[in-house]
Amino acid sequence: MAEWKDGIAKLTLPTPFPVGDVNAYLVKGDRLTLVDAGTKTRESWESFKSQLGDLNLKPEDIEQVILTHDHPDHVGMLDYFSEELHVYGHPLNERWINRTPEFEKIHQQFYDKLFVQFGIPEQYFLPSMKIMKKTLVFSCDRPLSGEIIENDVPPALPGWRVLETPGHAQSHIVLLREKDGTMIAGDTILAGISPNPLLEPPLPGESERPKPLVQYNASLKKLQQYPIGLVYTGHGAEIAEVHGLIEKRLARQHDRALQVRGMLEGRELTVFEICKLLFPSVYERELNLTISETVGQLDYLQSLDAVTVREEGPTFVYTAK
Ligand SMILES: [Zn+2]
Repeated sequence: MAEWKDGIAKLTLPTPFPVGDVNAYLVKGDRLTLVDAGTKTRESWESFKSQLGDLNLKPEDIEQVILTHDHPDHVGMLDYFSEELHVYGHPLNERWINRTPEFEKIHQQFYDKLFVQFGIPEQYFLPSMKIMKKTLVFSCDRPLSGEIIENDVPPALPGWRVLETPGHAQSHIVLLREKDGTMIAGDTILAGISPNPLLEPPLPGESERPKPLVQYNASLKKLQQYPIGLVYTGHGAEIAEVHGLIEKRLARQHDRALQVRGMLEGRELTVFEICKLLFPSVYERELNLTISETVGQLDYLQSLDAVTVREEGPTFVYTAK
């Protein structure tokens, strides 16, 4: 049952995705704020209304929305709200929540080229794109009303601060309440799992794709510099001791990368070949997620100068340095 605690109420909403439920948060401020907006499904909307009812609220009582990032399970339900409702987020949400035919074309071309570079056999191309498109059905179609970036005080939430934490999504931000270190972290850090460093097309005006795992590690290290108390996450439970958990996550990722480097000792492999070795039982079923995880480790190893990459025709091959 939803309830207020220190001006924050946690709502847990169902999603059709393997990750399970997603969390959204009501925050009391100068305006009643919803942080993140669940998936666009009837089940999610009904559950949302019933949890608002526990607090004697209705959807019309919500005065603004702030997005932690653009993934469908965090934005989709926006389509069920009035168009008047103000929605704030990092500017990089826009291309995903208010998709244009031009972005869809860029998106398609980006993945077509990437699949070849990664050495993924052609029979996987279409199914993989289909899964991506199916996921976007649960997203929303509306623009941001206003942008928030690093160090901003979010609209109508005095005492809170925006920190950019790119990695899991390019648009990712967290909200930090400065008086007690309470943080609403979206998917930047989760209690039970490490979020996937998802691949995205180059940012507007750039030609290279972002390196999401390298960015993600930098975001975690940045959070280590802030006094952080209780962390409200995008999926699952709160985190009481985030600094220790971040240390553990960074160390585990480093070990995983060393395992990948070991696979490349004395031989050359494509991303797809490494992906199969890393995830032998799930790579076919979860190709998009396992590929982005694999590429993340390779980007990380490259940033340490621990592997080299060579172009063989249009395909990349990696070896340990
Ligand atoms: Zn996400």
